[in-house]
Amino acid sequence: MSQANELYQQVILDHNRNPRNYHPMPDATYACQGYNPLCGDNITIFAKADATGQTLEDLSFQGNGCAICKASSSLMTSQLKGKPVSEARELFQEFHAMVKGDLDPETAPNHLGKLKLFQGVKEYSSRIKCATLAWHALMGALDRKETTSTE
Ligand code: ZN
Repeated sequence: MSQANELYQQVILDHNRNPRNYHPMPDATYACQGYNPLCGDNITIFAKADATGQTLEDLSFQGNGCAICKASSSLMTSQLKGKPVSEARELFQEFHAMVKGDLDPETAPNHLGKLKLFQGVKEYSSRIKCATLAWHALMGALDRKETTSTE
């Protein structure tokens, strides 16, 4: 196993065991439930905007998902805290392109940071939806949808 792969496995296991930001948010500005029928992942993403509505002050998630889904939700909610909504939308595009294999984060300019860990997911096409579910749910939340599905 390569070093990158080993790190990926460790981070996934750690975030699966101790997910960050795993709690409901009663005063959320945005909330959307995401469902991935292919795997059974079912999570809700919560986000709170600041007074201007332009910045994500806080994010959290809750629900049931596989290790990749939970780790992805955990890392996404951590990474986007305090970030502008516009940057969240941009990161979604980059993350989606990376896990589909359309963006090589080592050569193309990007803002992925720690999220680069998920680049290995492109080798496992059935897992792509597990990794992107949190992002789809967040985009759904920002677009004022109550639910979203990967299908
Ligand atoms: Zn899954």
